[in-house]
Amino acid sequence: MQCAKCGQEVPADAIYCPHCTGERKTTDRQVINGGIRGGLIGLFLGLLPAAWLLFDFGAERGIKAIAFIVPAVTFTTGLIIGLVKAKREWK
Ligand SMILES: [Zn+2]
Repeated sequence: MQCAKCGQEVPADAIYCPHCTGERKTTDRQVINGGIRGGLIGLFLGLLPAAWLLFDFGAERGIKAIAFIVPAVTFTTGLIIGLVKAKREWK
């Protein structure tokens, strides 16, 4: 019997495909880990220019907002890149 999802050979009496279920378990965790790792890298990269801005221009209202938005954006970007990358690596 062939699995309709992944196309791999599965025992005829199997209730679920061991390839699909086993794979998904690991993939989800690895994808999340990859996302967290990517997000932390992004956060770190975003904090550098934010710290530089605060140091160079002082903690004025506009600068504070930028210094907050930059790491937030880089964190989100890193998170998404990490998720996509981890997903691709596993497939
Ligand atoms: Zn399968």
